[in-house]
Amino acid sequence: MDLPYTEPYKYKMVESIKRSTMEQRKRWIQNVHYNLFSLTSDQVFIDLLTDSGTGAMSDAQWSAMFTGDESYAGSRSFHALEKTIQNLTGFQYVLPTHQGRAAENVLFSVLVKEGDIIPGNAHFDTTKGHIEFRKAKAIDCTIDEAYDTRLYHPFKGNLDLKKLKIIFDTTPKEKIPFVVVTITCNSLGGQPVSMQNIRAVSSLCKKYGIPVLFDAARFAENAYFIKTREEEFKNITIKEIAKEFFSYGMGMTMSSKKDGLVNMGGFIALNDPKIYKEASVFNIMFEGYITYGGMNGRDMAALAVGLDEATEFDYLESRIKQVEFLGQTLDDFGVPVQKPFGGHAIFIDANKFVPTIPIEQYRAQALAIELYIVGGIRGVEIGTVLADRDPFTRKNRYPELELVRLAIPRRTYSQNHMLYVATVLKNIYDSRKEAKSGYTIIEEAPIMRHFTAKFKKI
Ligand SMILES: *Cc1c(COP(=O)(O)O)cnc(C)c1O
Repeated sequence: MDLPYTEPYKYKMVESIKRSTMEQRKRWIQNVHYNLFSLTSDQVFIDLLTDSGTGAMSDAQWSAMFTGDESYAGSRSFHALEKTIQNLTGFQYVLPTHQGRAAENVLFSVLVKEGDIIPGNAHFDTTKGHIEFRKAKAIDCTIDEAYDTRLYHPFKGNLDLKKLKIIFDTTPKEKIPFVVVTITCNSLGGQPVSMQNIRAVSSLCKKYGIPVLFDAARFAENAYFIKTREEEFKNITIKEIAKEFFSYGMGMTMSSKKDGLVNMGGFIALNDPKIYKEASVFNIMFEGYITYGGMNGRDMAALAVGLDEATEFDYLESRIKQVEFLGQTLDDFGVPVQKPFGGHAIFIDANKFVPTIPIEQYRAQALAIELYIVGGIRGVEIGTVLADRDPFTRKNRYPELELVRLAIPRRTYSQNHMLYVATVLKNIYDSRKEAKSGYTIIEEAPIMRHFTAKFKKI
């Protein structure tokens, strides 16, 4: 008989999570006007709101924290982190920041000017925000296949070279400071970019003299997909794969809350001493001195260990297999999920799940609320609520997809937790025909309404 897959960990410390009854949850969610962000964490049994900063550290990371050096300048912990990043990425200059968006803020203060164009693969919200805030434009150049949910493609995060070339041919070179390659592509559900594509993008960019910048929050998960889906890399280690793709870039911005395996932190890594020097000034202004950038010494120590652990195959295999297990179990149960599964989350297709709820009544939000009431599980709506209103007409924007995202924290929940989540969803799915109505919004902020909007049940 085939042995089941087992995680390469055992427990040394545990954290209790609170069970509750359906009656309690009905009251709690009603009290916060059906906004899942407004719940307290004790009111949630399994929290799949995000995989950002929600993972568990290892005993090696915790012990590194005790030896953290809190010196303002020249911290030993900074230099350990710097060395780890240099070895891992090949980039020579490292600036710590308090999280990923702060790295973007510092680096884009140097690189992005009004009127610039920054092509990329479905830029992440904060990346786009920092580009548009500087009156520059982010242009999505992802392959068309990425937007066809019926289609299997092993690398839906890939960039379309033809789309890139059109931009390069019609825009003055000095207006394109860099191309951003997001690995894995968060906005598309954690879909990876292939090495073949990175090589091709790099060589096209080189021809036009335009650098490549990596938005590398989940670079280790991306390397895992390259190893397991691109024949050439079958026998190459994750660390060697990462080193190769980073060799095609001018630098990277990192949210350490993802593949850094820590709860807070970020950094910039670069090759160009001139850009590093200019970015250092902004780092000191916005984040902190160049050897801490808003991070504690002990947190930099834990990050150095985390980056090393995140790029080990055994860890990555357990990580991706857990996400896959949830996706596959749901698929086996007949629950409509997006495929192929991404690296950090599973997406439930609310249009297929509850077509009985009118689209104006926030289907995906209704499903996310039901998932909370029935199982104490917190996911997040990626649909009309998030898409917000058109800034000019103030009408609701209806995106093609209405999704509920279940993001899986790293090293945090067990296989049984995943089975519990899948079973709750199956039970909801079995009674889906009874769902006839959703919600209406009674109060919302002018932008980013999803965090604070208040809803009323119809
Ligand atoms: C999370 C994330 C960011 C921003 O990082 P924070 O640490 O949340 O500020 C940027 N890009 C991508 C792809 C991300 O996933």
